[in-house]
Amino acid sequence: MKILIVEDEQHLAEGLKFNLELEDYETEIAQDGKIALEILANKEFDAIILDVMLPEIDGFEVARTLRSQENFTPILMLTALGKPEDVLLGFEAGADDYLPKPFDLAIFIARLNGLLRRREWFQKETKKSEDIFTINSKTIDFQNLELKTETETVKLTLMEAKLLRHLIENEGKAVSRKEILQDVWGLNQETDTRAIDNFIVRLRRLLENEPNSPKILQTVRGIGYKFVKN
Ligand code: CA
Repeated sequence: MKILIVEDEQHLAEGLKFNLELEDYETEIAQDGKIALEILANKEFDAIILDVMLPEIDGFEVARTLRSQENFTPILMLTALGKPEDVLLGFEAGADDYLPKPFDLAIFIARLNGLLRRREWFQKETKKSEDIFTINSKTIDFQNLELKTETETVKLTLMEAKLLRHLIENEGKAVSRKEILQDVWGLNQETDTRAIDNFIVRLRRLLENEPNSPKILQTVRGIGYKFVKN
């Protein structure tokens, strides 16, 4: 397993490298966002450890750029304060998990191992619902985290897929924003739940015929959202 460590604090980067190599991971260090994108343009990794505060290009932008280039390597984001707003920004940018700094090395290794298993775990979980779901002549493939229309295939991030699957499983029922934060994404802190709305905007663009007057992902005023099949 090959891991790219994107971290500008040399001491921390070396520490992570040392500990990952003890766990038999191969590693490489990029000390800023620009170098990281250059390395990733030429090499494949199994996961990326991505600091947020970086010289040149910050971690959010690195994640956004990778996802827009259809690079879906799992990203574990290291956030300085672990503020829920930062975490949500990270998820929006395409991060798959986060760890607030400072962190315990044992927890870091556990989260990374979890992240590498995550897709497998998510795919296993979807077995209880349908792996392939069709709506509005679009096909959502939860195995491969893809949404297919007649003309194109769009990759979903893990967080988008989890949100969509949760709404589908609760078809016809209003799901609150708080429930999405806590049960779907595992965020327990108080946060501005309106950040979820950006995820819904993107999902509507993918699913609805008229994203501005949604029929499938409906807003339930004062509560949250509801998935409606017809
Ligand atoms: Ca930093």
